[in-house]
Amino acid sequence: MNVYVPDGYEQFSCLMGACRHSCCKGWEIDIDDSSLQVYQALEGPLGERIRKSIDTDGENPCFRLQAGDRCPFLREDGLCDMILEGGEGLLCQICADHPRYRNFYSGRVEMGLGLCCEGAGRMLLSRQAPAAWHLFEGEETKEDLTEEERDFLCWRGEMIALIQRRDLPLFQRVNRIIPEEEQDHLWDYLPLLMGLEHMEDAWPDLLSDLQRHPRDWQGAALPEWLEIPLEQLLSYLFYRHLPGALWDGREEGRIRYCLLMLQLIGALCARHAAQGEMDFSRLVEFCRLYSGEMEYSDENIDCVLDALE
Ligand code: SF4
Repeated sequence: MNVYVPDGYEQFSCLMGACRHSCCKGWEIDIDDSSLQVYQALEGPLGERIRKSIDTDGENPCFRLQAGDRCPFLREDGLCDMILEGGEGLLCQICADHPRYRNFYSGRVEMGLGLCCEGAGRMLLSRQAPAAWHLFEGEETKEDLTEEERDFLCWRGEMIALIQRRDLPLFQRVNRIIPEEEQDHLWDYLPLLMGLEHMEDAWPDLLSDLQRHPRDWQGAALPEWLEIPLEQLLSYLFYRHLPGALWDGREEGRIRYCLLMLQLIGALCARHAAQGEMDFSRLVEFCRLYSGEMEYSDENIDCVLDALE
């Protein structure tokens, strides 16, 4: 199976203690079967501590979170006790994988780094060269794809190439994907987005702030420095979310979803620029919140896709 990753993937490293929104807080951490077996057999005080931290009451065994929904192995300095005492090899699948996501085809896997991770967001959004992907494992000549998958990859490649046409302003590139008069308007979708299940209160707060101050973002010009980061964001969205069309046939809906999410992040940037509060860290933070709220909830994405039909 061939595995593809975005350029720069190999340089990613966790921010660890410097991460302001550690993934070791606020998320349920399910333990996969093979890690559970390792933990059950692990000798010594670390094995004992790990076993005491596992909650087996629910559907899946998971780590019993501490106050503030913190992983029991997360130290005050942001480092992980399990890694420090037992090495990275002891991490359960979910922790070892994060923030990676995967899309599966018959003969390839596309892997990427999710924007819910601050370190990944900084890396992906600060890249100056157009986003590109390369073979990470396997042999290109031996890739076994269905005709439908090949057609899909060609189509998505054309969409991404359009988005990366830097001789045009970003909004004109977007208009070539869907003509302006046929595009969806964020304003119409704000009530739906605000009503979705959310993890962090900061997200609905940001959305309701947009609803209260439409003049700051509707039709507002964005600071020029955002052109490249927003192009990177849209390339990421296309790469990550369009493959789902192979299973649900919602090609147009998924394009519309990506453009709506671009509009949403653009509106947040415009609103904060109007207040003189916009910088790169805020962009990373908006994308982190977006990803955590939407990309980890199939239900939320489906709700938006249904509404876009
Ligand atoms: S969110 Fe990313 S940078 Fe932060 S602790 Fe998790 S993997 Fe590391």
